[in-house]
Amino acid sequence: MLDEQGRKILEVLVAHLPKVRAGKPETYLGYKKIHEILGLPQLRERWGESLKVQGLSSLAEWTKSNELPAITGLIISMETYEPGEGYFSLFNKSENIYEWWKGEIEKSKAFDWSPYIQEEFNLVPADLTVPDRKDITISRIIRDTPLSRRVKSLNNQQCQICGISIEMPAGKKYSEAHHIKPLGQPHNGPDIIENMICVCPNHHAMLDYGAIKLVASNLLFKPNHSISEEFINYHNEYIHKP
Ligand SMILES: [Zn+2]
Repeated sequence: MLDEQGRKILEVLVAHLPKVRAGKPETYLGYKKIHEILGLPQLRERWGESLKVQGLSSLAEWTKSNELPAITGLIISMETYEPGEGYFSLFNKSENIYEWWKGEIEKSKAFDWSPYIQEEFNLVPADLTVPDRKDITISRIIRDTPLSRRVKSLNNQQCQICGISIEMPAGKKYSEAHHIKPLGQPHNGPDIIENMICVCPNHHAMLDYGAIKLVASNLLFKPNHSISEEFINYHNEYIHKP
C-alpha cells in the first residue's frame, strides 16, 4: 500500500506528466519545487533528503514492488538536472542509466495512474516547466571523482591550457578536471579519461561556458594522458560559442 505522503507526491507528478518530455530534464520537477507545491517543511539540509523522508522513498519503493513505471525519476536536483543516486541504486541500475531513466519516464507518461490517484491535482502552477534564473546559475558543479583525481595527478595539477599550477598550503596544488563532451543530457559524453582535461578554475569556467576553443596542438600533455580528438571537435562545434 502506498502511504498518504507518497500518494500526494504521485498526484503532483501525474498532474505534471502532460508537460513532461521524456529525456528533457528541464521539463521535470525539482525536489524543492515538490516541497513548495505540497507545502512540506524542509526537514534535511538537502532538499532531496528532505523529500525522501516525506513520501519520496515510499513512493519509489511502492513503484518498484508493484513493477510500475519508475515515475520518481521525474524529480530531479536543479543543480545536476538528474535524480539522486538513490533512484538508480534502488532499481539496481548502474549501466545505461540515462536510457533506462528516459524509458521509465516514457512509460510513466503512457501509464494509466488513475486507479492510484484520489484527487486530481490542480495546484500545479503554469510556469513549472520554466526553470528560474537561479536554478540555471547554480547548475555548475565541480565533481571530484576517482577519475578526475587521476586526470589531475597525471598532469601534476597543471592546467593543460595555460600551464599554471596553483600552489596551496602544505605544498599541495589545486586543479580541476573538466569533461570536454559534458556528461548527462543532452550531450551524454562518456566518463573516460580521453574525454577529460586538467585545467585551472579560470579555464574550467571558460570551457563550461563555451568562451574558448580547444586547439589540440596548443594543449600541454604529460605522458599517460591523451585526449581524443573526437571530444575536442565536439567542444568546438557544440559548446564553443564564437
Ligand atoms: Zn588555465
